[in-house]
Amino acid sequence: MAKTDFHKMADFLKGQDAGKLLPGLYIVATPIGNLGDITLRALDVLARADRVLAEDTRRTGQLLAAFGIEARQTSYHDHNAGARIPQILEMLEAGEAIALVSDAGTPLISDPGFKLVRAVREAGMEVFPIPGASAAIAALSVAGLPSDQFTFAGFLPTKSGARKTVLRRLSDAVGTLIFYETGPRLKATLTDMHELWGERDAVIARELTKTYEEVRRGTLSELIPDAPPKGEIVILVAPKAEEVWTEEAVDAALAERSELSAKAASQQVAVLSGWSKREVYNRLQATR
Ligand code: SAM
Repeated sequence: MAKTDFHKMADFLKGQDAGKLLPGLYIVATPIGNLGDITLRALDVLARADRVLAEDTRRTGQLLAAFGIEARQTSYHDHNAGARIPQILEMLEAGEAIALVSDAGTPLISDPGFKLVRAVREAGMEVFPIPGASAAIAALSVAGLPSDQFTFAGFLPTKSGARKTVLRRLSDAVGTLIFYETGPRLKATLTDMHELWGERDAVIARELTKTYEEVRRGTLSELIPDAPPKGEIVILVAPKAEEVWTEEAVDAALAERSELSAKAASQQVAVLSGWSKREVYNRLQATR
């Protein structure tokens, strides 16, 4: 989309101005690359907020300028959170509508904001989500790995010892595992995962929504790069394979339950074996 189109969109939203925003803290997601992924609601809130809290005011300034939005910015990051939070609570008490953004994606997701949201809630004031892009969800949506359940593990420790401790703990985690990673550390991280977890299906999602977007699928060892790749990276790893019993193991378990009805025996063995009830029942009929 051309820059002028963004400006038209922002002007349109200003025309829709429904007055002042309700006082409170607005957690506003911004694009992870492609500016077209900003939402109409995010533009509206950024244009009408009394103040925008930004991790990096220069970077957020560029985003706002791309949409023709002029906003009062205040820096908010991990290093000034302690001093800033009481000031922000006062601003909210004075009736301000305040938007929090991070450099990219959804604030608080491996980004600053958790302590602020907790403090605002504890002070009994409103916090509104303005949802949008997040690299973890964008990557999961295109990975082709199980998506019914997932564990988001954020950034791993940079030192191998600490990283391995965390990876050991995550070995049996529920669903697909999602990590944020940088190019220079990708090789070491995938090598540690392969050493501790063995071979598993995985996906490297790089530079999502940007010009050099790339989604590579393979096993952990296949994906270990020779040279550090450029850009921003999400690693996704399939959950530990459930152990599925062999036919012989199922037959033996059924034989141990020969006193039970076919239905009851099939039910019990299905729970233990990773086979479906119908599969166990059919096996029983074929072998009894
Ligand atoms: N809050 C952001 C979100 O909701 O996705 C994440 C911020 S975290 C500081 C930055 C990390 O997110 C990067 O190191 C990378 O792992 C991941 N990331 C951000 N943008 C990405 C993109 N376009 N493609 C792949 N990974 C991305």
